[in-house]
Amino acid sequence: MDTPLDAQAHDVVRSAAPRALATEAVHAGRDDLARQGLHAPPIDLSTTYPSYDSRGEAARIDAFATTGAEPDGPPVYGRLGNPTVARFETALARLEGTDAAVAFASGMAALTAVLLVRASMGLRHVVAVRPLYGCSDHLLTAGLLGSEVTWTDPAGIAEALRPDTGLVMVESPANPTLAELDLRAVAHACGSVPLLADNTFATPVLQRPAEQGARLVLHSATKYLGGHGDVMAGVVACDEEFAGRLRQVRFATGGVLHPLAGYLLLRGLSTLPVRVRAASANAAELAGRLAADPRVARVHYPRIGGAMIAFEVHGDPHEVIAGVRLVTPAVSLGSVDTLIQHPASISHRIVDADDRRGAGVSDRLLRMSVGLEDVEDLWADLDAALERAHGATVGHGAPAAAVGH
Ligand SMILES: *Cc1c(COP(=O)(O)O)cnc(C)c1O
Repeated sequence: MDTPLDAQAHDVVRSAAPRALATEAVHAGRDDLARQGLHAPPIDLSTTYPSYDSRGEAARIDAFATTGAEPDGPPVYGRLGNPTVARFETALARLEGTDAAVAFASGMAALTAVLLVRASMGLRHVVAVRPLYGCSDHLLTAGLLGSEVTWTDPAGIAEALRPDTGLVMVESPANPTLAELDLRAVAHACGSVPLLADNTFATPVLQRPAEQGARLVLHSATKYLGGHGDVMAGVVACDEEFAGRLRQVRFATGGVLHPLAGYLLLRGLSTLPVRVRAASANAAELAGRLAADPRVARVHYPRIGGAMIAFEVHGDPHEVIAGVRLVTPAVSLGSVDTLIQHPASISHRIVDADDRRGAGVSDRLLRMSVGLEDVEDLWADLDAALERAHGATVGHGAPAAAVGH
C-alpha cells in the first residue's frame, strides 16, 4: 500500500511531463484511481457529507465564501461540489489548457452563471457578435438577467466597450452558420474585458481558445463532450479566480450538474478526440459532395474543420428534413449519429426574424451535425432527401407534375 507521502510523490511525477491531448482525454481526472485500486471512476451520489467537526465545517464554508475554492476534504453539501463532477471538471480544464473548469446543469446554466458573476460586480453591459446559439442570443437580447447587450461585428468590439462592460461574447465556428473569427484579434480588441468564447462546435480537439486569449471557454457539454445525446450539461473553463466566483454563483443559484451526468461526461471525454476526428472526416467528405451538387446553393464548412456542416438548398429545406430516413431530423448536435435541423424553425426560432437573417441565418439554411455512420450510407440518405426537396420545388411551377402528389 502507498503511504500518503508516496501518493503525493506519484502525483508530482505524473504531472511533471506534459501529456498530449489524446492521453489527457483518457487519463485526466483519473490520476488517483490506480492508487485506490480502481479502474472506472466511482460515482458519488451523496447530497450531504457527515462531519463531527462543525467548527471545522464553519471554517471551510467561510473559506468557500471568500475565494470559491473547492473545500479541502469532503464537500459539505452537494451544491458546493461533488467529487465525480470534479473529475470531469479537472479533465476538461486539462483539455482546454486552463487552471480550472466549473460544470453546470446545462450550457444555458453555465452562461447564466457567467453573466451573474459580472452583474454582481456592477458590470451589466455585454458586447456580442452574431450569430450566437439562438437561446444565448435570446438571453442577452431579452435582458432576462438584467444585462444590456450591444451587438457588433468583430471590427467594432473595441469601440463598443464601455466602463460597465463586463463581457465580450463570441462563438467560432458560430452556431448555425459556422462563421469563424480570429479569436486572437478579438481577444486583443477586448483589452482587459474578459472574452467568452463558446467552443461547443470546435471542441478542444480542434481549437483551444484560452491559448488565443479567451479568459472564459464555454461549452454546451450536451453536445460533443457528452457525445451520445444522453447528457445535458454545461461547463466553463477558465482561471482559478473566475472559477471561484462561478462556484459561488452555482452554490447560490443551484444550477448544479448531477453526478451521473458528471460520470457520463468524463467517459465521453475519453473518446472525444477519436469521435471528433472520425466525424470530421465524414463531414469534410459530405461538405465536398454538397458543394459540387447542383441542388445545393451554398455550403458552409469551417477552415478548422469539424463535424458540423451548414448548407442552403435551391428547393424547400422543409422537404429535406421530411425526407431523411437514416439521418435523424432533430435539433442538437455532437452525437455519434447524424442530426439535421432547420435553424430558422428550431434552434434560432426564438431570435427575431430580421436579426436572424441579418446574422446570415437564411430561411433556406440547414444545419447538419455529422456522426460516425458510414459516409456512403449518409450520402445515399442525403441524396434521396435532396431529390425530394428538388422535386418539390420543380413541382410548384409545373401544375401537371403536381397531380397525384
Ligand atoms: C446547445 C448550445 C448551447 C446551449 O447549451 P444547452 O446545453 O442546450 O443549454 C450554447 N451554445 C451553443 C453553441 C450550443 O450549440
